[in-house]
Amino acid sequence: MDGLAVLNRLPSRAGEKRCCFATCGSNEETVSHLLWQCSWPKEVWNFVQLWCDLDLAHVLTISDLFSVSHASFKSALHIKITHAVALSTFWAIWKARNDRSFNNKISSPDVVLEDINTISFLWIKNRGNCSFIKWKYLCSFPFVVP
Ligand SMILES: [Zn+2]
Repeated sequence: MDGLAVLNRLPSRAGEKRCCFATCGSNEETVSHLLWQCSWPKEVWNFVQLWCDLDLAHVLTISDLFSVSHASFKSALHIKITHAVALSTFWAIWKARNDRSFNNKISSPDVVLEDINTISFLWIKNRGNCSFIKWKYLCSFPFVVP
């Protein structure tokens, strides 16, 4: 069983705020809340949707995110890059959550977005068989699909 599933079942101590993001105030820290519904990750996702040139207004759950119609994308490469960006975003939010919970390090959404940009580029270029991808493509806003 992975750590995320266990986290959903951990009981909270009386009066303890379970969500680690300071501006949230929610008493639960489920995977869905932490990675999608919480106000802090929402700031990150709002930027990501603009960066990926997608409309995520109707996405209510993480599952919905991976069900976005292929008609919303410009090409197969746009899908591939966006998928990598989404996974990078989950990773960066999770890392920021752990830094906040275990190291008392608070990162702003801007810092997390820089991580997402770097992680996405490295994953796409080195693990996605897209060696032709240039840094300047992903630094554009929205990103450029070559
Ligand atoms: Zn929260």
